[in-house]
Amino acid sequence: MGAVCKICGKNMMKAKGCSIPKIHISGKVYDRIKVGAPGDFDEGRAENTRCHDCNALFGHLHHWGCDAERCPACSGQLISCDCGDVFIEG
Ligand SMILES: [Zn+2]
Ligand SMILES: [Zn+2]
Ligand SMILES: [Zn+2]
Repeated sequence: MGAVCKICGKNMMKAKGCSIPKIHISGKVYDRIKVGAPGDFDEGRAENTRCHDCNALFGHLHHWGCDAERCPACSGQLISCDCGDVFIEG
């Protein structure tokens, strides 16, 4: 993945996190799971933890295409789950 997030346009090495909080999955709207939030791969880590893949800071949103973002519908890995149509607001 490149250094710039496809959906928020920020440099992932510098930004604290993504700025698009909602995700549409098969026609329903969900809140995206933040770094360190319940269900996240880094749940329970220290507050200065950054995502190993997209570099988002604890408490902030993963960038698009991050391999550590969980799907809020099925709790699987968002980039590889079978929920069908996944897209972001805007
Ligand atoms: Zn982003
Ligand atoms: Zn991430
Ligand atoms: Zn899913």
